[in-house]
Amino acid sequence: MTSPAPIPAQTSVVIVGGGMAGLSCAASLARSGITDVVLVEAQTLAHAKASSFGETRMFREMYSDPVLCRLAQEANRLWRKEETHAGETLRQTHGLLFYGESWNEETIEGSIPGARRVMDDQGIPYEALNAAEIAARFPLKPKAEFTGLFEPTAGAVRSDKVIAHWIRTARNAGHQLIEHSPVSSIDADGGGVRLENGHHIAADQVVVACGIWSQLLLAPLGLAPKLEIWPMLWAHYTVDPNLADRYPQWFCFQQERGDDGGLYYGFPVLSRTEDGRPRIKSGIDWAPKELRVAEPNAMSSEPPPRLVELLDHFLFNNLEGVQERVETVISPYSMTSDVNFVLDRLTPKLSLFAGGSGQSFKFAPLIGDSLARLARGEQPAVDLSCWSHQRQAVRP
Ligand SMILES: Cc1cc2nc3c(=O)[nH]c(=O)nc-3n(C[C@H](O)[C@H](O)[C@H](O)COP(=O)(O)OP(=O)(O)OC[C@H]3O[C@@H](n4cnc5c(N)ncnc54)[C@H](O)[C@@H]3O)c2cc1C
Repeated sequence: MTSPAPIPAQTSVVIVGGGMAGLSCAASLARSGITDVVLVEAQTLAHAKASSFGETRMFREMYSDPVLCRLAQEANRLWRKEETHAGETLRQTHGLLFYGESWNEETIEGSIPGARRVMDDQGIPYEALNAAEIAARFPLKPKAEFTGLFEPTAGAVRSDKVIAHWIRTARNAGHQLIEHSPVSSIDADGGGVRLENGHHIAADQVVVACGIWSQLLLAPLGLAPKLEIWPMLWAHYTVDPNLADRYPQWFCFQQERGDDGGLYYGFPVLSRTEDGRPRIKSGIDWAPKELRVAEPNAMSSEPPPRLVELLDHFLFNNLEGVQERVETVISPYSMTSDVNFVLDRLTPKLSLFAGGSGQSFKFAPLIGDSLARLARGEQPAVDLSCWSHQRQAVRP
């Protein structure tokens, strides 16, 4: 067994955090020929307590925000390049159904009328469905007043495969990806980091990609964006094998009622349990106010019983053929008040991605490419002013 390479005292780029943002940045730097890169991760790469863990993430262009819709189209262009680099398919295109109530308000994932307007404006293909058409086509039980939009070119990013591909790309380029090495501070001028073990790494550029933990490193520099942390529940459920091929990827919009936030989502059968039963993934897309926290380490990773009850209730009453909940997980959203990300240069030597909420994985190749450009002293290839660190929504 070879011993790990010693941690260098000096490098071109230090990336702090080994989730979606840090690893996509490393892979982009690798492809641009930058080999002198150290990525430091406090725990393990894309671990289960952070936000990039799991086998799937939705991708779609069905947005109520025209800017995000355009950026999602740009990300899809970059995903195709990413798949060429990887030599394999990293996404599954099986469509996405938005369905539920239509009311005059945007949720954190948009709305049915808003998405329809933007898709009409930008010429994105979709089908409009009523409740009877939804029930005939999928094993779902929509209420009579529900309407739906089906975007056939949407689908799921295989996030587990993507993470493995970025790790291979970075390691093959000679990057050091160092696990179990928390960064304790960033130098005042952004020109290096100190690890909890006392080791200092000086760098020409530092990229902070720490998800919900970003504030802990940036607050001492006075650079922390305003973020809230939401504990998000998701689970796997086994389903009737006779219906396994018919579950869509779906997002259900309903207005908040009492302690039920009303937003639920699910994925089709993409994998099986260890004993071979087909399973779907499903989750709740809101967190009760009393569970939202500002301090990352204050978030509980235990699934709250009431949320589990609500998710079970939705699944067993609104889908056909759902059998048993077999895995239950809490993962954090890092949320800004306008539900948009932060991707920006904070100082001449320091760049940041944070606030990925429940939406950023689909933008990963754009996020990685943009962070890599900032680390090379360039500007992102597209206008990302909507993700500015200076905007009012993220000012403390
Ligand atoms: C349940 C859930 C469902 C989602 N669904 C979708 C979806 O369907 N579609 C979509 O597009 N997006 C989705 N998202 C959003 C997307 O997955 C996240 O926004 C994205 O993965 C965040 O990646 P990140 O790299 O910013 O953060 P993380 O993955 O959290 O990575 C941050 C890393 O930094 C490390 N770190 C922290 N502090 C330090 C330190 N001091 N030193 C060193 N390392 C440190 C952490 O250990 C962690 O590994 C979902 C998110 C969740 C949680």
